[in-house]
Amino acid sequence: MISIETFFKISYGLYVVSSKLGDKLNGYISNTVFQVTSKPPQFAIACSKDNYTSEIIKQSNVFAVSILSREARPDIIGTFGYKSGKDVDKFDSFNYKTAQTGAPVLLDDTLAWFDCEVVETYDVGTHLLFIGSVIDSELTGNTDEPLTYAYYRDVKKGKAPKNAPTYVASEMPDNPEETPSLPQYYCTACGHIYDPKEGDPDSGIPPGTPFEALPDDWKCPVCGADKSDFALKE
Ligand code: FE
Repeated sequence: MISIETFFKISYGLYVVSSKLGDKLNGYISNTVFQVTSKPPQFAIACSKDNYTSEIIKQSNVFAVSILSREARPDIIGTFGYKSGKDVDKFDSFNYKTAQTGAPVLLDDTLAWFDCEVVETYDVGTHLLFIGSVIDSELTGNTDEPLTYAYYRDVKKGKAPKNAPTYVASEMPDNPEETPSLPQYYCTACGHIYDPKEGDPDSGIPPGTPFEALPDDWKCPVCGADKSDFALKE
């Protein structure tokens, strides 16, 4: 029997993986970035075939990885993790620079980046595994802790986007053991649950605040989606 819970014991970081094709820049949030060799320095990334960036990397043969800070703003996760580059220019609202390969690297709330040329591509079913050789890399000067997937799940209460290898369908919305007295609402973009019992202390919303009483300009603390993007959790 396969227990999904066992997979949650693997530790991961969270990164923006980006690429460029012609004038089109794109990137997405990935937790599957790992170093495979040090001589030469090579990294692997697993990228959903449904992901627009995947298509771009396949054609351009380049990608860059920007390492997110633990304090990364919700709109970074919201834009790169839960929106499609087919609908928006994701880099438009952020500071970035162009690396040697032409791939953009994110400078907001990141600790470091590296720039890669693809040397191998493996088809692993739903995803493509790209192996990239690092041709350039740099620290940004931000000395925060790196954002880990565990911190994102447990502290920021985030869920995996649909195209992530670690996505679990039953998580959106998830199943609390107890019945809440006030109705809970979930973010239709990222699956975050607003629980009136907890409120949203980071945004000054005290425990016990019903969803209806949240200010109209309140945003999802995980992905930055609007209050109107929340739906009643049945
Ligand atoms: Fe959200």
